Amino acid sequence: MPKKTKSASKALKAAPKAAAKKAVPARASVKPAANAAAKTRGAKAAPKASKASKATKAAKPAAKAAATKPGRKPKYVYTWGAGKADGNGSMKALLGGKGANLAEMTRINLPVPPGFTITTEVCTYFYDNKRTYPVELQAQVEAGVRNMEKIMGTKFGDTSKMPLLVAVRSGARDSMPGMMDTILNLGLNDETVLSLCNATNNERFAWDCYRRFIQMYGDVVLGVQKLPHEDHEPFESVIEHYKDERYGNHDLSDAQLNADDFRELVVRFKKLVKERTGKEFPNDPWAQLKGAVGAVFGSWMNDRAIVYRRKYGIPHEWGTAVNVQAMVFGNTGENSGSGVAFTRDPATGEKVFYGEFLINAQGEDVVAGVRTPEPVADLKKQLPKAYAELDRIRKTLEGHFKDVQDFEFTIQEGKVFMLQTRNGKRTGVAAVRFAVEMVKEKLIDWKTAVHRVPADQLEQVLAPVFDRASLKSSKVIATGLPAGPGAATGKIYVNADRAAAAAAKGEKVLLVRVETSPEDLRGMIAAEGILTARGGVSSHAALVARQMGKVCVCGAAAITVDYAARTMSVGGQTFHEGEDYLSIDGTSGAVYAGELKTAPSEVIQGLLQNDATAKKSGTYKNFVQLMDWCDKATKLQVRTNADTPDQVENAIAFGASGIGLTRTEHMFFEGERIDVVREMILAEKKDDRLAAVNRLLPFQKGDFVGIFKALKGRPATIRLLDPPLHEFLPNDHAAQSALAEKLGVKTEAIAKRVHELHEMNPMLGHRGCRLGISFPEITEMQARAIFEAAAEVQKKGIKVNPEVMIPLVGFKKELDLQVEIVRRVAEEVQKEQKVKIKYLVGTMIEVPRGALTADEIAETAEFFSFGTNDLTQTTLGMSRDDSGSFLPHYAELEIVKRNPFATIDQTGVGQLMQIASEKGRKARPGIKLGICGEHGGDPESVKFCHKLGLTYVSCSPYRVPVARLAAAQAALAD
Ligand code: PEP
Ligand code: MG
Repeated sequence: MPKKTKSASKALKAAPKAAAKKAVPARASVKPAANAAAKTRGAKAAPKASKASKATKAAKPAAKAAATKPGRKPKYVYTWGAGKADGNGSMKALLGGKGANLAEMTRINLPVPPGFTITTEVCTYFYDNKRTYPVELQAQVEAGVRNMEKIMGTKFGDTSKMPLLVAVRSGARDSMPGMMDTILNLGLNDETVLSLCNATNNERFAWDCYRRFIQMYGDVVLGVQKLPHEDHEPFESVIEHYKDERYGNHDLSDAQLNADDFRELVVRFKKLVKERTGKEFPNDPWAQLKGAVGAVFGSWMNDRAIVYRRKYGIPHEWGTAVNVQAMVFGNTGENSGSGVAFTRDPATGEKVFYGEFLINAQGEDVVAGVRTPEPVADLKKQLPKAYAELDRIRKTLEGHFKDVQDFEFTIQEGKVFMLQTRNGKRTGVAAVRFAVEMVKEKLIDWKTAVHRVPADQLEQVLAPVFDRASLKSSKVIATGLPAGPGAATGKIYVNADRAAAAAAKGEKVLLVRVETSPEDLRGMIAAEGILTARGGVSSHAALVARQMGKVCVCGAAAITVDYAARTMSVGGQTFHEGEDYLSIDGTSGAVYAGELKTAPSEVIQGLLQNDATAKKSGTYKNFVQLMDWCDKATKLQVRTNADTPDQVENAIAFGASGIGLTRTEHMFFEGERIDVVREMILAEKKDDRLAAVNRLLPFQKGDFVGIFKALKGRPATIRLLDPPLHEFLPNDHAAQSALAEKLGVKTEAIAKRVHELHEMNPMLGHRGCRLGISFPEITEMQARAIFEAAAEVQKKGIKVNPEVMIPLVGFKKELDLQVEIVRRVAEEVQKEQKVKIKYLVGTMIEVPRGALTADEIAETAEFFSFGTNDLTQTTLGMSRDDSGSFLPHYAELEIVKRNPFATIDQTGVGQLMQIASEKGRKARPGIKLGICGEHGGDPESVKFCHKLGLTYVSCSPYRVPVARLAAAQAALAD
């Protein structure tokens, strides 16, 4: 933005007289704001629905044209107010979520203070042009301010009458709670604070606003922040020192401070700013505005915003918008207040008006968690008219946006103003309940409901709760607000960095703070759960925890956290960082001493344990309803990766349609078998190996009998031996001598053979079908075990559907050699057992050569299953076991957007999958295609598999519901 001079701001003060006259005349109290906006609402008398919808439709093309048409002046500023808005709710990419919805709320005649949005395009320009602005911006911003002045009947920087004060806030396309910066009460200086005093006749209020402004601006724009060795914000320290000095009590509430105290704090704050920055605090409102806008754009690239975007996959290119909005005041006295509310409970999903407020406070006080707010239901007693208005707005919002809204409001002298609305973040449990209940209420249809539940949140519905018995024997030592459901246990840490470091070492940690701030994000991600002493259910801790699906209890006022001593105390008990355990229940808000046992969720108890009580719970019923809708929509089947009958049963209860991968080698570790396996591997002569192999046969057969029975006719893809042999070998001396003793051979002989089998790159070595080619007797034994088991189960009247899978095939000949053995054994067993078994033989596609020659391979293979763990490893030339040491840095540098071992690299690995699918289908029309790498349970990858037209995805049992939901969402998006 070009430099705005003092004289320009002066000129502006004088300029829009005519406009000001036409609008509400300036008044001598804070009430004008209320009145002006009441006028705005008065426009509601016009036919509401039709006006709003027409305006919404009309705005779209106009706005688009203005922003993009060549020859036209680019439009960087979109205004709203008095029932009119340049933008609308569909313009989130350009206006950010907050700006778009402020425009939309204005259009539906909700009471929104006027303002304007500087678009995300300006943010892009800002970063593309060394943090400068397009030349057109200044004039558009000035026009935006004039529009506000006109509606409010006040002027920016007015030194004689009520001044227009503004809030400057960020607003990205997707909300990023608390990650970027906000500045309130902008426009105050040593002169305008006096006109605010006169206009409001409320000195205390005016000076409180001024000190808040310096505090926020100092922190956000001028960088007066906590230094690495400090545990408290410097402005907060100044307040505490002052309270100590003046009242002998640094815990005194701010409500006890008077106008003189705030006036003195203003002096001290300015001194702090001068000391820390070497510069005076800016007095010119236009300079303040310029600084604030720059800081908000600058905050898009602050460390915590970058961490947040990385976690939630928000592209850096989106940029943020900046919203400048006329201030309304929740801190003028007992008839005013601020609050945050949800149209329904975002933790449990219950349809109740949910939220909290603080009387005589600005919005930041509620969100910052410094004072613990009161539940919104109490507002009914304290300010009944405002409550009734809010309840009306709550219904209007849901009716209009057709989703649960999270909104911020301010009550100024009894009058309600809306400052923001957005789709409310919700827990997985709440997301399911909202979706199901809104269908019942006919607000949305079932297809929308399926889309409404983020697939990766569904796992939260399966999250553990505390074991009932262990709860009974434990005492609640404190209670806070239930802010993130689930049960968590861990050693306490009172510092986020230390918590993150301990978690990185594998410790289960619980982050305990007085309150959290965005700087604590890394620690919050690492912790099992979060406990705070202060703050409400919309505090930073609560918002962030809910979104991450973290267990969280906040505002547990009875606990004392001592950062210096690294302890937490409650009721005479002290807990030490890194030593003592605590357990928290984010569903009830209870805090327990020690390490409590956890129990499965009601969905798990209902599905897997057939628990009748759990089956009656709402959580269970809603889950089942959602899954039924998914089945109506889905095209992609969801199978499971399972190695034991137990796992198969669980997966079927979760809705799996069969097994997509049984890793037979996993069975080799059970009980005594490992010694037989070792004997087989260590054998130097074929006869010895054959003897060991034959001893393994009954074990394997038993495994498959169990699996076939559990599957009851569903398909079972059974993969033959795959991993490098060294994985089974005794590598240390003690294990080698124990084995030597069992086998009656010398330890040295074992050590020698282990040495001979050593490989430099075992993952690219003697593994997969290469084993079966070197040792056909192993393939033969496994095939026999499969077919004998199939025959046995089939004879009992249970259908079987085996699909034998050969791993790591890169050459058609490899597959041919193995298939020949499998088919020969199948014939033999069928003859011996006098049965006919329906079976398939296919292969994994997990090396690039296999994918590229899929047409040749499909001549033999009856199905393909993409082994995307190895396919990623071999395509990227990146070890799946060692990539942890450099991938996080790659993600930071955005070399990779997502971990390619978790989410399919669609451009590279995905391209190979596409080639293989096409070639496979060409050579064998109707070939069955699936995926069994870890990606099979990742929602984004599932959607990609749907696009490729695969028959199924396969994933671990607990991810089956997630994959079913993602598959249904993909199908509905077609
Ligand atoms: C794969 O490579 O994707 C696969 C499923 O096999 P494994 O993980 O056992 O190597
Ligand atoms: Mg593999």
